[in-house]
Amino acid sequence: MEIHLDNVTKVYRRGAKALDGVTLDIQSGVFGLLGPNGAGKSTMMKMIATLVVPTSGHISVDNYTLPAQQNEVRRMLGYLPQEYGLFNNLTAYELMDYIALMKGIGNDKQRRDDINRLLDWVGLNDVIHHRVGSFSGGMKQRLAIAQALLGSPRLLILDEPTAGLDPEERLRFRNLINRISVDRIVILSTHIVSDVAAGCQRLVVLNHGRIMLEGELDALKRCA
Ligand code: ADP
Ligand code: ADP
Repeated sequence: MEIHLDNVTKVYRRGAKALDGVTLDIQSGVFGLLGPNGAGKSTMMKMIATLVVPTSGHISVDNYTLPAQQNEVRRMLGYLPQEYGLFNNLTAYELMDYIALMKGIGNDKQRRDDINRLLDWVGLNDVIHHRVGSFSGGMKQRLAIAQALLGSPRLLILDEPTAGLDPEERLRFRNLINRISVDRIVILSTHIVSDVAAGCQRLVVLNHGRIMLEGELDALKRCA
């Protein structure tokens, strides 16, 4: 699987140039997007997630062109937005079931199997029927990842997924990501360098909407 950005610029109507002529190829594996607040990370992720349209430039995901073929791209997409709100009154299972229904996933049995497998996999099997409101920050984040994984998307976009996690939860999250990155693209953004250093095969550093640094992790470590 491959994503191409070709000279992509986004100027929001209220003036900010959030991305400025970004050209980039992304292949299977974990791809890290690093940069300070306001660098353009969310904007780039929303564009690939078909939620923001470039002002100029071209984006393709496999052989699909955005925005013309956005429905095809949406079908292969799992997206965890930065400002993700969970419904505190639902149980973990109810929330997953609701999202699976919205995604149009299979019949009752298939949904039930998928939900149980994913909750088990993120380590929430003991609290399936507990209310989300009683979860810690780390548990909520793992639940958010499980919901992004419903339907086995080949492209997973996670915007600041480790925000609010403690060091132990961060480690657990990294292990999770390493296991799911086989045969798919996982794009994750962060402003915490150690997250990227440990988990990503490739990374890009954005600042003021431009690529400052790009490459394999090992090569970047050698220049640091
Ligand atoms: P577009 O040109 O993509 O339509 P707009 O300028 O109309 O974007 O803004 C879209 C929405 O985002 C508006 O509701 C606006 O209030 C909000 N918004 C504006 N500035 C920011 C910002 N710096 N960060 C996040 N959201 C913003
Ligand atoms: P990051 O994710 O790296 O923090 P963003 O993509 O959220 O960066 O923001 C890049 C720039 O675009 C910032 O200057 C931000 O204020 C601006 N911006 C983001 N969303 C909007 C919006 N909807 N309308 C206007 N400006 C925006």
